[in-house]
Amino acid sequence: MEKNPSIKCSVQQCKFNNNSEKYCTLNAIEVGTHESDPKMTECTDCLSFEVK
Ligand code: SF4
Repeated sequence: MEKNPSIKCSVQQCKFNNNSEKYCTLNAIEVGTHESDPKMTECTDCLSFEVK
């Protein structure tokens, strides 16, 4: 899969991940949060994730 050089990602379990180079292959992604008042990186999520 062709990587998108603008989106680095190391989530190897995602079907859109270029595992060898650690990039996303989508043209765009959506990022969101599962918290009501996010304060740190752990509070954010890639909502475009799909398991392999
Ligand atoms: S969709 Fe999200 S989790 Fe999946 S490879 Fe792209 S940035 Fe990573």
